[in-house]
Amino acid sequence: MSYKITLIPGDGIGPEVTDAACVCLGALDIDIDWEEAIAGQPALEKYGTLLPKETLDSIKKNKVALKGPITTPIGEGFRSINVELRQELDLYVCLRPTYTIEGAKSRYKDVDIIVVRENSEDLYAGVELKDGDSRTEDIIDQINNISEKKIRKGSALTLKPISRFASSRIIRFAFELAKKEGRKKVTCVHKANIMKYTDGLFLKTFRDISADYSDIEALDIIVDNLSMQLVMNPNKFDVLVLPNLYGDIISDLCAGLVGGLGLAAGANIGDTMAIFEPVHGSAPKYTGKNKVNPTATILSASLMLKYLGESENARFLEEAVFSVIKEGVNVTYDLKSSKDVASAVGTKEYAQAIVEKIKKISNK
Ligand code: NAD
Repeated sequence: MSYKITLIPGDGIGPEVTDAACVCLGALDIDIDWEEAIAGQPALEKYGTLLPKETLDSIKKNKVALKGPITTPIGEGFRSINVELRQELDLYVCLRPTYTIEGAKSRYKDVDIIVVRENSEDLYAGVELKDGDSRTEDIIDQINNISEKKIRKGSALTLKPISRFASSRIIRFAFELAKKEGRKKVTCVHKANIMKYTDGLFLKTFRDISADYSDIEALDIIVDNLSMQLVMNPNKFDVLVLPNLYGDIISDLCAGLVGGLGLAAGANIGDTMAIFEPVHGSAPKYTGKNKVNPTATILSASLMLKYLGESENARFLEEAVFSVIKEGVNVTYDLKSSKDVASAVGTKEYAQAIVEKIKKISNK
């Protein structure tokens, strides 16, 4: 079958890791017509905007995109393009599977956790008010009039909206995923002891929806306790469902449990379209060095194949990746021990080793 898919290389190490993923996909028996679209630094230089309309239009038309990371310039005037893309296209699910890969350096064995992060609201909703602005001061006055707790004049504000609508759809997604994959437990992560209305609503919604899934154990845990328990004993967790900010932090923590960001794949999924991208960022210091690990992007491409119904090709791709990592020979620096890091190969050579495996596995 043939597919037209939007390819957003991004910036920093993005072009290198997406190129490696495309090379691996090219070795499979699947016909992909890539429509390249720019975002981030290259788009700023060409169009004067980090996210051009053409790029959004391409994703809306093709419904599926593979994306490299994009740098968010720190400071005033720039919002994250990654967050903007997810909101603009209503990709409300952020799916981040974390599992042990034999041969990857890790302190733990047999970790198998799926992070299901709400992607549309919470402190990421983008409602921020600048300190010192007269409208911010008006809002602070209004809040101080109705709340027993007072906000200091001159503060900056970020709002944390949590709705039953957005909580319901992500929690239902987590339970449906658990059901489909035969998983036993879904754990709701929150801080409802402190944020009684926002996280309290997320937790209440979780408890209500869990009643529809009597075969799946429904648990809840406070996010700080979860952080400690993940480090002490990650094997006891299965599917985690979290509001946006906790989901972001906990998915990086989970990546650290199984060998680092170079291995952590992700997907942003809505009702009609999806963008597949690694959890990691643009790691600017490695740009153009042919050094970083493209596994996270390659495994994101494998999630994309599953989404497209190409489960056999997804399996070939994953088996090839796992086999190269298990051998531990043609792998990038982060997959080598400190004593033999000098024998690490570059991003391109690692992708080529995966291509050779795919040919063997699929008898091409
Ligand atoms: P980062 O994920 O880019 O890098 C942190 C460190 O993780 C790197 O220095 C490196 O040691 C390691 N690392 C990351 N990717 C790796 C890989 N593929 N192989 C081996 N090691 C890898 O995080 P950061 O430095 O905090 O962020 C850099 C920029 O990326 C920021 O502008 C940030 O906003 C942006 N960012 C973008 C996305 C996205 O596009 N979805 C996600 C996160 C961060």
